[in-house]
Amino acid sequence: MKTTCGQFQETLLSDDFREKSLPLSETEAASAHLAACEDCAREEREMVALLDVLHTRLPRHEPRLDLWAEFAPQMAAVRAEEKLPVWARLRLRAARFWGNVALGAILFTQAVALNTASRLQKYLLVDPFLDPEENT
Ligand SMILES: [Zn+2]
Repeated sequence: MKTTCGQFQETLLSDDFREKSLPLSETEAASAHLAACEDCAREEREMVALLDVLHTRLPRHEPRLDLWAEFAPQMAAVRAEEKLPVWARLRLRAARFWGNVALGAILFTQAVALNTASRLQKYLLVDPFLDPEENT
């Protein structure tokens, strides 16, 4: 079956071709037509070049929007903080500082408890009826 110029150019405009932006040499019938028809070959080269530009020069929208959605609240928070009077800003910072100290204290306590437990492990009585393998 021979591909006509019309069929070929329809492929050129199809979604499949646009999505992949691959040269039509991928498909047999198209590449046969490309080899035979200079007009369509030129058409195809131009289309590939155009799609190349579109794909590489134009950034995709979604990631950009996602990034912005993530950043926007933080930016707003920073801006709002900058607008606060000095005393309010200091209080905010103090609250943050004490929050960090509290978190550090909790972690420190846990670390000490863990350390103590492992050090005292050898002093703990071992149930002689338990499987010794389980206690090691
Ligand atoms: Zn043709």
